[in-house]
Order: sequence, then C-alpha cells, then structure tokens
Amino acid sequence: MVVNSTVKIESTLEEKIEHARDLIENAIRAYPRIAVACSFGKDSMVTVHIARQVKPDLKIFAVMTQFKPKETFEYLVKMDREWRLGTTVYIVADKIPAILRNRSLDVRLLPVEEFNRKAAETERNTGRKIYQVDPDECCRLLKVEPSKLAVAELDAWICGLRNTEGRTRVDYQEIEEKGGLIKINPILTFTEAEVWRYIATRGIEPHLWYARGYRSLGCAPCSHPGGVLERDGRWQDTSKCGGECGIHTLALKSQSGKTN
Ligand code: SF4
Repeated sequence: MVVNSTVKIESTLEEKIEHARDLIENAIRAYPRIAVACSFGKDSMVTVHIARQVKPDLKIFAVMTQFKPKETFEYLVKMDREWRLGTTVYIVADKIPAILRNRSLDVRLLPVEEFNRKAAETERNTGRKIYQVDPDECCRLLKVEPSKLAVAELDAWICGLRNTEGRTRVDYQEIEEKGGLIKINPILTFTEAEVWRYIATRGIEPHLWYARGYRSLGCAPCSHPGGVLERDGRWQDTSKCGGECGIHTLALKSQSGKTN
C-alpha cells in the first residue's frame, strides 16, 4: 500500500489530518473490503469523521457489550442517525437491547450462553463479578470474539488508536498486519489535545462522559475518570490496569483467513 506523506507527533494538526486522509484513501484503494471500527469514543469519532469525508458510505461497525454505559448506547443511536452511519452493531446478547430496536442500525446478536455460564461460575466461586476477577476472559468473550466476526469478511479495518493514549499504545504503527488482516491507524500521531481541537472546530458533539472527567471510555465497570495517561482509568484495581481488551493485541484472523 502506497502512502504519499509522513507525519510525526510534532507535525501540525492540519498536516496530520491531511496524512490521515491520504492513509485512508490509499487503504480503500488497496483493500476494497474495509470498514471503520467505532467505539463511539472521541478518537473513533474523529476517525469516522475523517474517513467519511474520504468515502461517505464507508462501512462502520461497533462491538458493544451489556456493560457499556447507557449513555454510550444513546450516543451511538444519536450519532448514527445524525451522521447516517448505518452502523453494524455486534453484541453478545439474547435479544436486541430496547434502545437499538427499530433504528437504521444493523444489530447482530451473538450467542450469550458461554458468557453467562462463565460469569455465573465466577460469581458462585468468588462472590465477585467476572470483570473484577478475570477481565481478560470477560473481554475475550464480549469483545474479542465478536470482533473476530466483525472482521471475518474484511481484508482491512480502520481504527482510532493513538500512540500517546497509554503505555500499551506507544509502539503501534500506522499500518499493521496480523494473520493476514491489515489494520490502519490514521490518527496514530494525534495528541489528546489535538483530538479535542478537531472535535471542537468541527462542531462534533462528544460522548457525555468526557464532561465528567473520563479520558478513555469502555464498559462502565472498567472505566474511571482521571489518570496521568488517558488509559490509566481503564480496568483500575485489576491485573490489566491501563491495558488492552485484546482486540488490538490478539490475532482476529488466522493466515488461512479463518477466525481463530
Ligand atoms: S471492559 Fe470490563 S466489562 Fe467490558 S468486556 Fe472487558 S472486562 Fe468485561
């Protein structure tokens, strides 16, 4: 895949935006089966905003969980309607959450039995929730496995990862490959301040929780406000404090093209 420009952390925001467009444009040309992963956090919204300028009907997908804040579901519905995203939502659940019904969303339900069984077992054995005792397994079942399905028919996906978000994201590259699946990170060099400048200058309404001091949003029990680095509030008081859910660290496809 050819990219005509390069940027660094110290480049201007306008240079970074231009570069992000360049990356996305070339990725779409190289990988027609491509989509944007959107968590409806600030970085995702900037990425979707730029990507939709390049290709207004570019596919958007979201992996939601039963533990996402209700404000995330409300924001997803609102932004999907206003930006005409036609988001495909993947969620482990036995029925479509009421808020996602009768909308322009394409909701894909995934089997809930394994999660329910493991969550019940954990509570029975420890008296605590699965996300407190074994957040890796909780994320695997609710986020990683659904993400494998979301990318199963794709050759590439576009994400809103940024190098300065936290200790686990410092080494990410703009173009990555795992198991034959290409990942494009067009806003990798944006700083947190630049993300907010982009949002403010484009009149984008952010998720409500940022006004409450949150800097990185995930599921409600695993997100907390504040922190020295943006992701410090994720999974506080667990083994993976400030870490990753696994979507960006595990292979979502095997080389044969099958999910693993
Ligand atoms: S972020 Fe927390 S609640 Fe959400 S899937 Fe991961 S461990 Fe479970």
